[in-house]
Amino acid sequence: MSENKKAKELKKKYFYDPENGFDRITAKEKKAAFAMSEDYKDFLTACKMECECVAYAVNAAKKLGYKPYSRGMKLKAGDKIYTVNRDKSVIFAVIGKESLAKGLNISGAHIDSPRIDVRTIPVYEDSGLCMMKTHYYGGIKKYQWTTLPLELRGVIFLKDGKRKEISIGTKESDPAFVITDLLPHLAADQMRKSLAEGIKGENLNVLVGSIPYEEQDMSERVKLAVMDILYKTYGITEHDFVSADLSFVPSIPARDVGFDRSMIGSYGHDDRVCAYASLRAIFDQTNPAKTAVCILADKEETGSEGTTGMQSQFFDTFIADLCETQGVLLRECFENSACLSADVSNAFDPNYPEVSEKRNEAHINLGAVVTKYTGARGKSGTSDAGAEMMSKVRILFDKKKVIWQTGQLGKVDQGGGGTIAMYMANRNIDTVDLGVPVLSMHSPFEVVSKLDFYMTYRAVYEFQKGYTK
Ligand code: MN
Ligand code: MN
Repeated sequence: MSENKKAKELKKKYFYDPENGFDRITAKEKKAAFAMSEDYKDFLTACKMECECVAYAVNAAKKLGYKPYSRGMKLKAGDKIYTVNRDKSVIFAVIGKESLAKGLNISGAHIDSPRIDVRTIPVYEDSGLCMMKTHYYGGIKKYQWTTLPLELRGVIFLKDGKRKEISIGTKESDPAFVITDLLPHLAADQMRKSLAEGIKGENLNVLVGSIPYEEQDMSERVKLAVMDILYKTYGITEHDFVSADLSFVPSIPARDVGFDRSMIGSYGHDDRVCAYASLRAIFDQTNPAKTAVCILADKEETGSEGTTGMQSQFFDTFIADLCETQGVLLRECFENSACLSADVSNAFDPNYPEVSEKRNEAHINLGAVVTKYTGARGKSGTSDAGAEMMSKVRILFDKKKVIWQTGQLGKVDQGGGGTIAMYMANRNIDTVDLGVPVLSMHSPFEVVSKLDFYMTYRAVYEFQKGYTK
């Protein structure tokens, strides 16, 4: 062996220097990745709100024999069940051959995404235009949400308690809505402001109409005409917005990105890319040894609080109910459980190399990202997966030929962020973050790689099926 060849081999053995996933993936897997991406794009375009994701997931699960769980239900190995939390969160489980005392293999993703929520008294008229007041949801760069076609989605409960689903802008013949921005000609003052201050939260008002009501001798005629349309079409009066979960979301369908169609651009990859991968993974489980669980949670973008967030007792209650049927204590089940907190990570962006530490950041096409810890300022607000769990995860993925990489969220002290990982870990469940690297995260058009998406599905599948503590 020549010295040069030997040195090259030693380098390959000693160094962490992952090759592009497309140099490693088999032709069969590449085909599968592109095929699954087609289904995923349909899901993204159809489901832009939590309630839509839950309905989609439940509908798909029912076709595969999943049954709604009711307390006290008798269960046996191989049974497939689900439970819905207030239309915004859902848990799927495939009962394992082993006792629940041996623990669960869980994947947890979130189905809420940053967006523009409608306020409780939203409609007003100013200078002949009808507008709606909003409050943004999650961490957004406000300037990205102006001059962008928006659609209105969600639910509203009318005076009589009747539930109305709203989806305007989804069909090509539907109107769009928009938040206006200044023309550059008159933006001299605005352009001198920082990006954070250029567009204010109170300026995120959505344009919704301009034709006045016929009656001449009165004020607020444009607002009246818009309210008249809302009443005649949906039975909505101004009082009803108090009992509504309505949001403006980007009216852009998911589509391929690049000449080679290797990537997907869409609103809501964070975290529907991991939610969809987790869903497909649990749907493919048959007779797992340990009970496999997939939770699609709400409110991650605002801190996982409330009844539908990952901090809610809803998860504990459901698992405790399952444990009771086997005479197992919840705490015993949890202490033997493991969880993949399936959430997206930052992808290294060559346009902004200064915010990342290149060696430790995830890169597009290097596969699913295993992130030991997230958080900010000295690892605050994270669970930091232990070395032993990291070891077991890497051995499992290598054995099953999952293409994976490690990642982080930017340079030390550059910023940071969290996931649901710490809330699972606080339950005494071994937890590590795993997901898809994303370019332009939290923007109206985020980008992921089809290979990374598919490898996240593969990683979650292998974890649910065969992770052992
Ligand atoms: Mn996320
Ligand atoms: Mn996020």
